[in-house]
Amino acid sequence: GGVLYVVATPIGNLGDLSQRAIETLRTVDLIAAEDTRHSRPLLQHYGIRTPLQSCHEHNEAQVSPRLVEQLQAGQRIALISDAGTPLVSDPGYQLVRAAIEAGVPVLAVPGPSALVAALSVSGLPTDRFRFEGFLPAKAGARRERLQALAAETATLVFYESSHRIEACLADMAAAFGDARHAVLARELTKRFEQTERGALSHLRQWLGADANRRKGEFVVMVQGAEAATGQDAAETRRILELLLKQLP
Ligand code: SAM
Repeated sequence: GGVLYVVATPIGNLGDLSQRAIETLRTVDLIAAEDTRHSRPLLQHYGIRTPLQSCHEHNEAQVSPRLVEQLQAGQRIALISDAGTPLVSDPGYQLVRAAIEAGVPVLAVPGPSALVAALSVSGLPTDRFRFEGFLPAKAGARRERLQALAAETATLVFYESSHRIEACLADMAAAFGDARHAVLARELTKRFEQTERGALSHLRQWLGADANRRKGEFVVMVQGAEAATGQDAAETRRILELLLKQLP
């Protein structure tokens, strides 16, 4: 019967396509790709000649029903995005939903994702993290979102593009304080890969010091807020009681 494979592709380094991903992409009937022009060099590199069909943000709602019909007819289809894992700040949600609703098996062929790659080298706590994807493009909405995250105790993870990285860090410093520890992972697995760690104030200086550091793709990770401990709460209560005794 039909199967939908959700296949992760490299986030910069062609060597990161897994053996199983290559095998799957070679043998499926169709590859649904976010951008067929973008994916062609990768597929060519591995001698994969499977037919391609575009499936992106703007046509996903239209093409999903037809792809599901093909799946129900017994075809095997692989879904890929431009880079990394589909559905992680990438198209595919509607197709996966539609396949599940139609009773078609959906199988993961896991591999690279900038989210997990960045976290794994960050040095920040990874036992609990909160992935926020891209912040809103408009400054007002972005600041509001960051304000709402200020007390979050889990590590925060954001995707960011080069043209907004400075504004993003400025707004983070305003919302979380200049001293909050954060990590910038840039161009992971690529030639100019860099990971810089320090207070938000340091990261802003670091970015400002060299225009080359502002190029490429970024994952921004921010240490969670200090959790108010039980001890803090007890201390607060003790002080409050002392103060209350002073009131007439
Ligand atoms: N689906 C992808 C994944 O699993 O990582 C993410 C796609 S999203 C449209 C693109 C964003 O991911 C970029 O703006 C950047 O924030 C992040 N990203 C992708 N590749 C990266 C890399 N090599 N280094 C750092 N960040 C990267």
